[in-house]
Amino acid sequence: MKVYISSDMEGSTGIVSPHQVTPGRSEYEFGCRMQLHDTLAAVKAALAWGADSVTVNDSHERMINLDPSMFPRGVSVISGSPKILGMVEGAADHDAAIFLGYHAMAGTEKAVLDHSYDSKVVYGLKVNGTRLGETGLNALFCGALDVPVAMVAGDTAVCFEASSLLGSTLVTCVLKEGLGRHSAVTRSPDDTSVLISEAVKKALDAASAGKSPVLKMEAPYKAELTFHTTAQTDAAALVPGSERVSGRTLVFTTDDIFEIRRWYSSSIDCASLA
Ligand SMILES: [Zn+2]
Repeated sequence: MKVYISSDMEGSTGIVSPHQVTPGRSEYEFGCRMQLHDTLAAVKAALAWGADSVTVNDSHERMINLDPSMFPRGVSVISGSPKILGMVEGAADHDAAIFLGYHAMAGTEKAVLDHSYDSKVVYGLKVNGTRLGETGLNALFCGALDVPVAMVAGDTAVCFEASSLLGSTLVTCVLKEGLGRHSAVTRSPDDTSVLISEAVKKALDAASAGKSPVLKMEAPYKAELTFHTTAQTDAAALVPGSERVSGRTLVFTTDDIFEIRRWYSSSIDCASLA
């Protein structure tokens, strides 16, 4: 069993504030410490379960939050950005994916740091009519690679979002309960280590039995990206292949699911300059 872990920061143990997840801010060190805490708990559980290898993809911001020297032997850490598949770079040829430290999509109530890729730019994203956040879109890319998503960990809201999309065979691990965007009932890291460890064992049992969900959609894929402002949409409309269908929404249609990743990433980068 080759295990893949996409490790984001916002959904990690104890994190509630942008100050804790933004490089350069004084509390950022805490964010890195908690992301590492949760990721190490999952890695150790996967190795104890009997995983042949574990690949960790640092999936937050600049993607250099995790110190590779902190990981045990047998673990590869994909570090840095940009990466063509971003948060699921390197997921191909794995038997199970685990999304750690994930957060709910933009616009979710009682969800810690809810956003979809860029909180200042992206209002919402749909693919083939289904609203997707980072969990959904990354699950879709994993599905295209025939990699099941065995587990999602984060706050109550992202676990609900993930189960709603991926079904009851997905293992979820609630690490905190959001009270609002910037507040939550958190848990001791000693407790969340145990929760993550138990969830990873359950998830890998399910994956090895062929029960973990694999998200698939039918081609052609139609992505609809809505921005916060018309100025952002003006800038993003420069990306080839975009069709503007309203003041704040662009549409992109393709038979190659991975083209969506290139398109929305380029569109968001352009929009963020507006
Ligand atoms: Zn993040």
